[in-house]
Amino acid sequence: MAATVQYTQMGVSARPGLEDTSVMRPTIVEVRLARLTENYRAIRTAVAPAAVMPIVKANAYGHGLVDVARHLIGLGAPSLGVGLLEEAVALRDAGVTTPILVMGGILGNQIPLFLRHGLTLTASSIDKLRHIDEAAREMGVTAKVHLKIDTGMERIGVHYYSAEGLLERASECRHCVVEGIYSHFANADAADLGSARLQLSRFLDVLQWYDKHGVSPPLRHMANSGAILQFPESHLDMVRPGILMYGVYPSTEVRRTIAVRPAMTWKSGVVYFKVVRPGHPVSYGSTWQSDHPVRVVTIPVGYGDGYFRALSNVAQVIIRGKKYPVVGRVCMDQIMVNLEWDSAYNGDEVVLLGEGGRETIACEDLAEWAGTIPYEILTNINTRVPRVYY
Ligand SMILES: *Cc1c(COP(=O)(O)O)cnc(C)c1O
Repeated sequence: MAATVQYTQMGVSARPGLEDTSVMRPTIVEVRLARLTENYRAIRTAVAPAAVMPIVKANAYGHGLVDVARHLIGLGAPSLGVGLLEEAVALRDAGVTTPILVMGGILGNQIPLFLRHGLTLTASSIDKLRHIDEAAREMGVTAKVHLKIDTGMERIGVHYYSAEGLLERASECRHCVVEGIYSHFANADAADLGSARLQLSRFLDVLQWYDKHGVSPPLRHMANSGAILQFPESHLDMVRPGILMYGVYPSTEVRRTIAVRPAMTWKSGVVYFKVVRPGHPVSYGSTWQSDHPVRVVTIPVGYGDGYFRALSNVAQVIIRGKKYPVVGRVCMDQIMVNLEWDSAYNGDEVVLLGEGGRETIACEDLAEWAGTIPYEILTNINTRVPRVYY
């Protein structure tokens, strides 16, 4: 039974039969909250005593920001991580009062909004930290800050070789509490951990500053999913799992030391059935045709939902427990599937991603077919696809 259906982010103004989901397009993302629970607990057990900050950026990797955040908080998550100020504000607007760290780069004019919502800021330079301290003074509040050290990602953060100034400035802040200090791995999901080891050692060198000054460091964190799985020395005080918590491994080469299962199933349904004659090509560009009569069904999902156009003529879907190929180009709102001479009926369930009968279409399968990574498959699913929670 569906617990809740999230229509709030569909981006459509007409929502027919909100109370009667049977009249809606059958294309939905199902999220099994029990799987999220299992995955979260498996990670928590594996990294203990390190704390876990679940990452819910990009609509919780496509699973639905607010519902996933609430569920994780219900499981005891002490804090959440997001990429953008907007995501954190959306959580606050939904009544989430848990600490939220915004991990992305920030602009000076965003700082007051952070402070008004009690959000935790990433100070990635001395200049930004000064800005935060000043804004907090002006507003008469105390800013919660995590310092960001760049140990080899070259994205945001002060370089490890010139981090001392930031740590010194942080110790002088009068209107900030520095609650954490963190870095980020560039290659923690690779088979070869050489680069990750180098990054960790750079981070630990920076942290020596606290020893030298006889103060205990704030919360130290660095590990993403790859490092959680295969680099325990990097767990430090807290870890930041994203994709692993959703039950997907960050790469094919990573060591799968923690068992997780995907929380997401992406489903649709058959809305049209026909026989296509030989020599009558299917879809835009006429890229596919059969040399014998075939039964072809049409499914109401397309690249406008995040079903990549690159899946044209390569992807498979599951209907009645069996896999069938997507034929012809993926359209914006529809795809065609070749049943050869099997049967399917209007209304039959179609699994685009996940388990159907004994068959499975893994996120890794879609990623390989589309020439991308599982992260992009999940985060690309458009908000016009309702999320349904079980
Ligand atoms: C996205 C992100 C994570 C989570 O990464 P996964 O590989 O999904 O576990 C952790 N930390 C930072 C800074 C991130 O941007």
